[in-house]
Amino acid sequence: MIKLDPSSFAESQLLPAAEVIRRGGLVAFPTETVYGLGADALNEAAVRRIYAVKGRPPDNPIIVHVHEIGQLELLSSYVPEKAYRLAERLWPGPLTLLVRKSPRVPYAVTAGLETVAVRMPAHPVALKLIELSAPIAAPSANISGRPSPTRGEHVVKDLSSKIEVIIDGGETLYGVESTIIDLLSEPPVLLRPGAYPVEELERILGEKIRVPEFARGLAEAAKALAPGMKHRHYAPSTPLILVESKDYSDLEAYARAVRRVAEGYGKVAVLATKETARFYEGLKVIELGSRKDPFSVARALFDALRRVDELGVDAAVAEGFEERGLGLAIMNRLRRASSRRVEL
Ligand code: AMP
Ligand code: MG
Repeated sequence: MIKLDPSSFAESQLLPAAEVIRRGGLVAFPTETVYGLGADALNEAAVRRIYAVKGRPPDNPIIVHVHEIGQLELLSSYVPEKAYRLAERLWPGPLTLLVRKSPRVPYAVTAGLETVAVRMPAHPVALKLIELSAPIAAPSANISGRPSPTRGEHVVKDLSSKIEVIIDGGETLYGVESTIIDLLSEPPVLLRPGAYPVEELERILGEKIRVPEFARGLAEAAKALAPGMKHRHYAPSTPLILVESKDYSDLEAYARAVRRVAEGYGKVAVLATKETARFYEGLKVIELGSRKDPFSVARALFDALRRVDELGVDAAVAEGFEERGLGLAIMNRLRRASSRRVEL
């Protein structure tokens, strides 16, 4: 493991990791969303090892990370004009764009699809690592199905004996993955809500983006559209019950209803917020952040889902959130992590 301070590391500290990538090895590295498990995107054998190490289903494609917009041409045979428009404004950043794949990109990266998902991460370590090695194919650096890693120690726990290098750059900024958008479809389709809000993308594009049920975490995805979405994901081993409401304006009434659900489960932990924690006196509470600052909730979410398993409880009960802005990504993750949903 290498510990690096993202604001003051030297290029020379990344050379050994870049060499590992160039030789077909695997490196876990920090990004602004979550930690990635990276391999040279154009090296098929290296990419196949990502699936093996994570236990990732073979039909779940992997995002390729670039360090400059020009690398799109290396990876893609057709980039829609809208993709350039978004990339020029929002890269580097937590936005992934679907483009048509070039024959150079192995099908192992795209899980057999003719499209490839590409993004430029807004993280100095990730950008430098790519620049020193190659475009890097990287899913989240967790065992498949587990919550995504937002700290170096999460990666160590899941993967330490299985990969060559782990770069620990501290806690990630957003704590949820990138927003994935398909601009090859008309109108554009949201494949996964993430750190970049859909409402902002709509403003920049000047058109509506279709948000399918599966992007809300509600239905299984059609294989052709968003392959990875059909797998249960982000889940603690402990049963997780998500209590949703259509209306979160009366938080006291809502929290009392959540509490009634929780009390039916024996020893429970409640994933609550700063505003609601006081209504769960006597129960174990994991505080996620403030409802006034969805950013704080997103950032704490995956660590909280991992902590649930360390508390020795029979079940965890999670509060729901409005599906606006970052709330859409938060609800997608919570729904896909939950073993049961209650709608009030
Ligand atoms: P992860 O990086 O582990 O969060 O997973 C990346 C996600 O990106 C996958 O679950 C897919 O849903 C999505 N993805 C990657 N490539 C494609 C693609 N070519 N078409 C559609 N979705 C993709
Ligand atoms: Mg993942």
